[in-house]
Amino acid sequence: MKMTLLGTGTSMGVPMLGCSCAVCLSSDPRNRRLRPSAWIEVGDRTLLIDTGIDFRQQALRYGIRRLDAILFTHSHADHILGLDDLRPFNQMQKQPVPCYGREDCLQEIRITFRYAFPEKHSHDLPHMQLIPVEGPFSVFGLDILPVPVVHGSLSILGYRLGSMAYLTDVSAIPEESFALLEGLSLLVLGALRHKPHRKHFTVEQAVAAAQRIGARETYFTHMCHHLDHQETDRSLPPGIHLAYDGLSLEV
Ligand SMILES: [Zn+2]
Ligand SMILES: [Zn+2]
Ligand SMILES: [Zn+2]
Repeated sequence: MKMTLLGTGTSMGVPMLGCSCAVCLSSDPRNRRLRPSAWIEVGDRTLLIDTGIDFRQQALRYGIRRLDAILFTHSHADHILGLDDLRPFNQMQKQPVPCYGREDCLQEIRITFRYAFPEKHSHDLPHMQLIPVEGPFSVFGLDILPVPVVHGSLSILGYRLGSMAYLTDVSAIPEESFALLEGLSLLVLGALRHKPHRKHFTVEQAVAAAQRIGARETYFTHMCHHLDHQETDRSLPPGIHLAYDGLSLEV
């Protein structure tokens, strides 16, 4: 199983429009972060976790030619607004793409993409099959475990697939969810910046959570322009790293 991080930036991306800070002007490609999403390849099947605003660009950059399912963490714009670009996959695969998520997240998708849910479906619209999930489920034989996490005032999902887990927008991890994260080889976890934020872990909070979870390797994602890649990555404890766009991780 291979996970490629298609985007490791926060909702506004890095560089942030109009900003001339050192990170936004940096020539280090690891300081250029598209909106957050992960691409998982298992044999000849592929699935995405979230389809952000940059989905089309990411699919071109990383050569995504097939899409068997999407797992949604939540319905914030930086995680769903790429859905219109499902159309070529619908046309090539001649079927809707199964989209999994909490019922409230799927309901928001139905509202945001109202035009894609007409009475009678037309081939020029993105075609999603919305499948609400509560507990563990399986997609083409792959067992998937939803992991509830807190994101500000929302309860949203992260996902565990085998010994890898992806928890992007997190401000707290409920006690019961720590139990779902035992024995991981790979954890991808959100870490926004150093300054506290109501909806996201700081780097320091993410380090504390990562150390408690104790995955063999942890990579941080969903970073804003306050974090320079090299400087931040160097400051992290062993086994914890800053991810960057295009990073591929195998389990
Ligand atoms: Zn986000
Ligand atoms: Zn900046
Ligand atoms: Zn969010």
